[in-house]
Amino acid sequence: MPTTTRVFNFSAGPAVLPVPVLEQAQRDLVALPGVGMSVMEISHRSKVFEDLLAGAIAALRDLAGVPPNYRILFLQGGASLQFTMVPMNLLKTGTTADYVDTGTWAVKAIEEARRVGTVNVTGSTKADRYNRIPTQAELHLTPGASFAHITSNNTIEGTEWKAFPDVGTVPLVADASSDILSGPIDVSRFGLIYAGAQKNLGPSGVTLVIVREDLLERSDKNLPTMLSYKVQAENNSLYNTPNTFGVYIFGLVMQWLKSLGGLAAVARLNQHKAALLYSEIDRTGFYRGTAQAESRSLMNITFRLPSEELEKTFDRQASAAGFDGLKGHRSVGGLRASIYNAFPEEGVAGLVDFMREFERTHG
Ligand code: PMP
Repeated sequence: MPTTTRVFNFSAGPAVLPVPVLEQAQRDLVALPGVGMSVMEISHRSKVFEDLLAGAIAALRDLAGVPPNYRILFLQGGASLQFTMVPMNLLKTGTTADYVDTGTWAVKAIEEARRVGTVNVTGSTKADRYNRIPTQAELHLTPGASFAHITSNNTIEGTEWKAFPDVGTVPLVADASSDILSGPIDVSRFGLIYAGAQKNLGPSGVTLVIVREDLLERSDKNLPTMLSYKVQAENNSLYNTPNTFGVYIFGLVMQWLKSLGGLAAVARLNQHKAALLYSEIDRTGFYRGTAQAESRSLMNITFRLPSEELEKTFDRQASAAGFDGLKGHRSVGGLRASIYNAFPEEGVAGLVDFMREFERTHG
């Protein structure tokens, strides 16, 4: 294979980016048109970068309908640092933070919040090996909680919230790392949304935070400066040097999503791609989906074969056939096809053909 031929990249993250975005970045890499330098070589305080940042924010605001009373921040430290920043900024002393435990990343968020204050795990599907999302009736929310935290898509277990929980007036906080902008989102239902960029938004090293303005008042002035949402918002994410290249790619991804027809169109594409794969998984019983049907993720499709031996063989042969990154997360095993926004439909169709052939020869 020529070294520049692209494989079908099913990686959970960092994940596939849209080819038009990569091509644009390639054209701009040595010199941004009219600037004579690459985006990595210009000051983050320059007019050029200020415009790129403003453009990225405006494009997201437009695309996702982010209301004016929400701030859009580009931070660093990944979604993992948000596990710390969320409770540090939003958890008021003497109160509780509610967390719903739906998988590995939710557990990590809970562990970090416990280092900061009092946590109430308001619901958990651990007993079901996280193969589903809890129902509203299963949640035991704390009246007057500082916030309630969910993981909107569970990257490792392959489940997603189809409808967000009703938490009354308590601010709802979502780790949307693995499903952000996979479809329309009513931002006004949330107090704060965060996401590492490396699945649906851009390269790793930039973390998107969308936060309701009134919540910024909760950031204590004695917080470490870099960990204060208030400081980050007051400085428009330029308190220190941001990931300038990451913000630039993020802006290109927003333009690409717009060119597809916006988030409703993106949702239709994602539903179609996921349906192709789930219907193959369900076709004969050779493949077995690990998530319960009503909780199945459109982004991370987890499945098993009759034996671990066959799973290994499947992954090896799939890689050789140009379907890369299908091995499940090391903590759960099995197989996982991550099909984020930028994953092409022909790759899904190709995998379905591969699965049929594999079943015919190994089933
Ligand atoms: N939350 C979720 C849902 C994730 O999928 C991931 C990464 N796969 C993380 C948090 C951690 O993200 P990061 O590596 O950006 O800290």
